[in-house]
Amino acid sequence: MTSLPMPRTRPTGGAGLADTFGRVARDLRVSVTDRCNLRCTYCMPAEGLPWMPRAEMLTDEELLRVIGVFVGLGVRQVRLTGGEPLLRRSLVDVVAGIAALEPRPSIAMTTNGVGLERVAGRLADAGLDRVNVSLDTIDSETFSRLTRRDRLTDVEKGLAAAAEAGLTPVKVNAVAMRGINDDSVADVLSWCLDRGYELRFIEQMPLDAQHAWDREVMVGADEIRQRLSERFTLTPLPAADRGSAPAERFLVDGGPATVGIIASVSEPFCSTCDRARLTADGQVRNCLFSEQETDLRGPLRDGASDQELADLINGEMWRKARGHGIGEPDFHQPTRPMSSIGG
Ligand code: SAM
Ligand code: SF4
Repeated sequence: MTSLPMPRTRPTGGAGLADTFGRVARDLRVSVTDRCNLRCTYCMPAEGLPWMPRAEMLTDEELLRVIGVFVGLGVRQVRLTGGEPLLRRSLVDVVAGIAALEPRPSIAMTTNGVGLERVAGRLADAGLDRVNVSLDTIDSETFSRLTRRDRLTDVEKGLAAAAEAGLTPVKVNAVAMRGINDDSVADVLSWCLDRGYELRFIEQMPLDAQHAWDREVMVGADEIRQRLSERFTLTPLPAADRGSAPAERFLVDGGPATVGIIASVSEPFCSTCDRARLTADGQVRNCLFSEQETDLRGPLRDGASDQELADLINGEMWRKARGHGIGEPDFHQPTRPMSSIGG
């Protein structure tokens, strides 16, 4: 990975969570658990993974304290993810705790949608603003093949409940896999348009626990665009409207509905990345693909002050690399899989 010489120390002062390339992190992704009730083939093996021991996971109190320190450092959006965030029993309390922080960050969640039907209203009441529900296919057989679980109806009900609870705009995230669902991306778009959900396709990344990702097999953004164009007219929205958002967005059939394509691999958005990450066991990561992380749980349990935690967070963000480096000769897939980092 190419990198510029890095100044040895981070300058003091009010630049927020800055790095050596001038980016400032304002969006914190928090993994609240590494456990999951699905087994998506691009994410984890059929038998699952050895889950984190509970004693290693941050308690609600610890989690909220660390998120509070991030907010003090300029974070303005918190996204809860996992693993499957709905499997954390105290999730509603965690959302309420984040909503009570000053200044209150916006609160979003990425979920597979299983069980969302039961809890969407309570999450919205606690302060959740928006959801992204992952749904790669609307064909139940393909869904079972892809997630290794027969739960499509649960996800559909979860999506409807999210819209009903006002967790809008309800977004749908889809990963296209060659030979599995790549021929039906337009069906997913049509289904989302009928229900008012905003669809975004995400290129498959080398973050699976099995390390089976293959660049040659990945369905790239160009191919997704082309397949959608066979049925819909896509008009690109100006890149200036995009800011640090990773999706290239298109009006569908003249709008107002849109579809997004996140070309994380083929057209990386690293130069405008504004994300920081916290794992369920209290590690700060500056990138999905980072090979290093900074432990906060140990210092937290040893009585560190907020300032000491802030210094550790700043140090980790300061050394963020220029880009993820996928495809470069020295690229290594991180040891932690996506499900444990928090996608
Ligand atoms: N379980 C929740 C879910 O599926 O939405 C949250 C965690 S999941 C890791 C977050 C997002 O990452 C999902 O939209 C999922 O499709 C995506 N994802 C997982 N593995 C991926 C991979 N190898 N490449 C691209 N996206 C991936
Ligand atoms: Fe679970 Fe989400 Fe990974 Fe699928 S993508 S296995 S739902 S963590």
